[in-house]
Amino acid sequence: MPFPLPAVATLSRPRKLALLVIAVALPAIGLAAVAALLTLRVAHGVEAESARYEAYLAVNVAESFNEELASQLRDAIAPAEEVARDGAPDPIILRALASRARRFEAPHYVPVDDMGGLSIVMVDAQMLLFGEDSTGQHEHPFAALVLRGPAGDVVGAGGWWFNPRAFLAANLSGVVRDRLTAMPGLYGGLESTRYLCVQVFDSEGHEIARVRDPGRALAGRSADMGGPFESFSVRVTATDQAPVALARRFVGVQMALIALLATVMLAATFIGVRYIVRQMELVQVKSSFVSNVTHELKTPIAVIKLAVETIEMGRFRSDAERDKYLRTIQRESDRLAQLVNNILDFSRMESGQGSLQLAPVDVQELVATVMESFRLRLEDAGFEWEIDVPGNLPRIRADAVALQHCMLNLLDNAVKYSRERKQIRVIARPRDGFVSLAVSDRGIGISAEDQKRIFEKFVRVETGLVHTVKGAGLGLSLVDQIIRAHHGRVEVASTLGEGSIFTLLVPVWTEGHRSPRDA
Ligand code: ADP
Repeated sequence: MPFPLPAVATLSRPRKLALLVIAVALPAIGLAAVAALLTLRVAHGVEAESARYEAYLAVNVAESFNEELASQLRDAIAPAEEVARDGAPDPIILRALASRARRFEAPHYVPVDDMGGLSIVMVDAQMLLFGEDSTGQHEHPFAALVLRGPAGDVVGAGGWWFNPRAFLAANLSGVVRDRLTAMPGLYGGLESTRYLCVQVFDSEGHEIARVRDPGRALAGRSADMGGPFESFSVRVTATDQAPVALARRFVGVQMALIALLATVMLAATFIGVRYIVRQMELVQVKSSFVSNVTHELKTPIAVIKLAVETIEMGRFRSDAERDKYLRTIQRESDRLAQLVNNILDFSRMESGQGSLQLAPVDVQELVATVMESFRLRLEDAGFEWEIDVPGNLPRIRADAVALQHCMLNLLDNAVKYSRERKQIRVIARPRDGFVSLAVSDRGIGISAEDQKRIFEKFVRVETGLVHTVKGAGLGLSLVDQIIRAHHGRVEVASTLGEGSIFTLLVPVWTEGHRSPRDA
C-alpha cells in the first residue's frame, strides 16, 4: 500500500479506492490519451500533406530545368533561325549560332541527316534535342532546337555544347524564385515555396546548388531530373520556419503539456482519493477509538470497585490477600491515570495548548522515578528488567513530567506487546549533543512498513496482539509530539517476532539555555 492508513481500515477499502480511481483517474487518463491521439493525428496529417507537396515541388523543379534550358536556347537561337529560313548554308548557320555562344560552351550544328543520334524531349510543345559527343571531343552534352528552311522543312538542329552542372548551379535560384512561382498550376505557389529548401545533387550525391538551408532532421523528398540533366536529382526539404517544422515543435510542446496535465490530474486524484479514504476511515477509527477508550476506562474502574468492596466487606482471608487487593487498586488506578493523562495531553497538543516547562533534568533520576512507578506493573506481569543508565550522563533539556509520561508509554507498550519473552531494558547514552533513552523489549516486533505509521494518531497495527491488548492508538503519537516539542526525535528499530527498541533523543542542557521556563 503506497500510503499509511489507520489499522481499522475495513475490507471495503480496496473497493472504495478502486471505485474512486475508476470514477476519476481513468476518465482523466482516457481524455489525455484522446487529446494526445488527436494531436498526433493532426501532426501526422500536416506532415503527410507537407511531404506530398515537397515531392510535387521536387518533380516540378526537375521539369522546370528543361523549360529553362529550352527557353535560354530559344532566346539565343533567333539569328540562326533567321539565316536557316533564308536557306543559308551550314557554315553561315554555325556562325549565327556562334554569335550567341556566350551562355554556352561552343556552338554546334547537326544537319537533318545526322539528327538520328540525338534524343528528344518535348518542352512546352517544342522539341528539345540533346546528345553526347560520340567523338569524345566534348565532355559535356549538346542541346539544340530544330531549325527550318525556307519551305518550313527541318534542315537540322542548331544549339550549343553546355555544362549541365554549371547550368544547374547558375539557374537554380532563378528557376525556384521566378519560374516556379510564376507557374499558374503550382499548388500553394509562392507562399509555400518560401519555406522550402531546394537542393540539386549530382549522381554521386554531391550538392551542386541550393536555395535556403534545409530544416534540421526533416527528411525531404527527391525527384530525378530528365533530358540533358539525367544523372542529377532535386531534393525539396522544409526549412525550420516551415509550418510543418513549427507543427512538429508544437506537437512536442503539446504532448509535454498533455503529459503534465495528466500527471497533475493523477496526482490530484491520488491526493484526493487518499484524503477521502482517510476521512472515511478516520470516522470509523474515531468511533472505534471511543469504544476502545470507554472499555479502557470501564475495566480498571470495575476492577478497583470490586477490590474496594472486597476490602470494605472484609472478604479476604489474610493480610497478604488484602495487600494483593491494594496493589490491584494501585496498579489499576495508575493505568487509569495514564490513560486519562494521555487523552488530556493529546487534546491539549491537538489544540496547540500544550506547553513544556523545560529545565535541566538528570536522566538517572528521571529513569529511577519512572521505573519505580512502573515497578508494580512489571512485577505483576512477570517481567525481568535491566536498567543501564550511567551516572555521568549530561543533564538534558526537558520537561521532566512530560518525559516521564513518554517513558511510561514506551514501557507500557513493551509490556503490552510482549508474549513469552518478558524482558525489558532501559538504556541511556550520550549521542552527539543528545542523550538517547532507549526502551527495548523482546516482544512481537513491528514490520518495517508498520514502523512508518505507528506514530500517527489512532493507528494500531492490525496484526499481532492488537485484538487482545487494549489501546487507543494515542501513546506513540503523543510521545512523538512531546519529543519533537523538545527539539528531539524518536527512533524505532524492530524486527517482526524478535522485539523492538524505541529510542528517545533529547537535547543536552547547555549553558546557553538560561531560563528553565523558556519553552
Ligand atoms: P496503543 O494504544 O495501540 O498501544 P500506541 O500509539 O502506543 O497505541 O502504539 C501504536 C501501535 O504500535 C500499537 O497498536 C502496536 O501495534 C504498535 N506498537 C507500539 N509499541 C510496540 C512494541 N513495543 N512492540 C510491538 N508493537 C508496538
